[in-house]
Amino acid sequence: MKNIIIFGAPGSGKGTYSAEIAERYGMGHISTGDVLRAEIKNETELGKIAKGYIDQGQLIPDELMIDILAKTYDAQPQGSGVIFDGFPRTIAQAEALKQMLAQRGHELGMMIELIVSEEVLMARLLRRAQIEGRADDNEETIRKRFAVYHSQTEPLSKWFAAEGIRHTFDWSICKTKEGMLEAIFQEIERQNK
Ligand code: ATP
Ligand code: MG
Repeated sequence: MKNIIIFGAPGSGKGTYSAEIAERYGMGHISTGDVLRAEIKNETELGKIAKGYIDQGQLIPDELMIDILAKTYDAQPQGSGVIFDGFPRTIAQAEALKQMLAQRGHELGMMIELIVSEEVLMARLLRRAQIEGRADDNEETIRKRFAVYHSQTEPLSKWFAAEGIRHTFDWSICKTKEGMLEAIFQEIERQNK
């Protein structure tokens, strides 16, 4: 399977769809948010650094993040394709990912972009806050994460388009999780023909 990059704003469903895709096609799944939260839980040095940024709704610095990503990727079983969930989030990270994969004889594969309105995103994240209790899922930090997304991450959408691998799925058109998944699965299968 081709590698997949899942791209979208906080709360757009990257983790949810990644899990469904990984399960269906037997692919690996790297969620950088989950990697960082595990480091925080285990109170590692990296966790302490990451917590400072995450709690402020800011991104972890690129150099650190690229290093973590390469280590996580190399620890994955190879050959069945990997889903990148939450990485890259900046142009520098995207360039680094492309280079890292090329050095290993691998490719970016395809990018799946999830489009969801900010109103829906906020409602979802506030609901998730009650269920999962993530420290960064409060209204003030969510607003900061949206701002960071718009300024640092969203411009990457065009970068992927220029690579010729962007595939966009719009919640307001698909309307349900099942509808989104069906459209995404179809595109993945078309790309892997
Ligand atoms: P969701 O998972 O619901 O789409 P999200 O994108 O905000 O929401 P995560 O991907 O779990 O959540 O990321 C949580 C936090 O971890 C980010 O706000 C950021 O501080 C940090 N983080 C995760 N991935 C990266 C990355 N690639 N570069 C820099 N920081 C990151
Ligand atoms: Mg996530």
